[in-house]
Amino acid sequence: MAKYKIGVLYGDGIGPEITKATVEVLTAAAERYKNTELEFVDLPMGWVGIEEHGDPMPQYTKDALKETHGWIMGPHDSAAYPAEHKANRNPSGELRHSFDLYSNVRPAKTMPGIESVAGEADLVIFRENTEGYYCDRNMFVGVGEWHVTPDVVISSGVFTRQAIERIAHEAFRMAMKRRKKVTIVHKANVIKLGMGLFLNVCREVAQQYPEVTVDDYHIDAMAAHLVRRIKDFDVIVTENMYGDILSDLTGELVGSLGLAPSINTNDNLAMAQAAHGSAPDIAGKNIANPMGIMFSTVMFLDWLSARHDDPEVFQLARHMESSIMATVAEGICTRDLGGSASTNEFAAAIVERTKRTYQEV
Ligand code: ATP
Repeated sequence: MAKYKIGVLYGDGIGPEITKATVEVLTAAAERYKNTELEFVDLPMGWVGIEEHGDPMPQYTKDALKETHGWIMGPHDSAAYPAEHKANRNPSGELRHSFDLYSNVRPAKTMPGIESVAGEADLVIFRENTEGYYCDRNMFVGVGEWHVTPDVVISSGVFTRQAIERIAHEAFRMAMKRRKKVTIVHKANVIKLGMGLFLNVCREVAQQYPEVTVDDYHIDAMAAHLVRRIKDFDVIVTENMYGDILSDLTGELVGSLGLAPSINTNDNLAMAQAAHGSAPDIAGKNIANPMGIMFSTVMFLDWLSARHDDPEVFQLARHMESSIMATVAEGICTRDLGGSASTNEFAAAIVERTKRTYQEV
């Protein structure tokens, strides 16, 4: 019997709704797998963290996460926190930084039953997760921005060979399992040193993968190419902020930001986290699409299965994934995808399908 301890951080805005739906679906799917035991540990984050521990990412939560095999992280609404909490890294930035979760993997794939405005697509973005233009990640102490005069601010971007090498290797290893094609996205024509290093180190790493075809685009041109010909791209590697922006674009292009998944990983831990934010405009209305965090959880199960060499968890991932996709293909989905199901109704339909298809898996 393999036991896995999984942290659950519900977060803010739509976080509690979509995270609860995800845990329900995962619990239902896991019932079938008798050699796998999942223990969920609920931990405070966001507004709950502020209320209970005076911190949106309490030390209590970070300590407890060290004892887990990984965790499911809901979104947070850090823009709304009191001023004293805005000075620090936001909760997910803090976890990515303190656990060194350097690889943010963000796939975008067309699915049956979901209209894609850009046509067929199946790509994966590898976003460097620990430095780059997200300057709150860039300092050992403090935040990498300086308020020089009331009207002058300097915001840093940091690029290091070590961080670029490891994300590039992740991207190329994935490319070897896919279409053997990597696109490097940068802006080395303007940001000559920082983005120049990013581009050059990625090209150096590429030498170790001679079977992989490599091309590169400036970030602005890449946005246009994705809209025009998304199907031509397979694995994309880029810095932190560019990856964040491009993955919102690709998520929306293949159907909805609400279904864009991601995981944040290093060699020992993984954090499942939807690419979207806390969507305060629709919070508490029971209309949010939970597919982003559900598919992130499927990615987490795949990672768990590979990390612990556990084929049953791989089966569990396929079962959860196919139950979600089959439910959508039946026409049951939330309103962002043109359906009429509430978050709860959608989750209940997936749970029902999960149980019904036990025999078929
Ligand atoms: P952050 O900076 O925290 O990532 P954001 O500014 O990118 O957040 P989101 O919270 O992702 O913004 O919301 C962007 C838009 O997408 C909003 O209109 C929101 O309602 C919608 N949206 C985001 N997530 C979902 C979801 N799961 N289901 C339906 N709509 C969503």
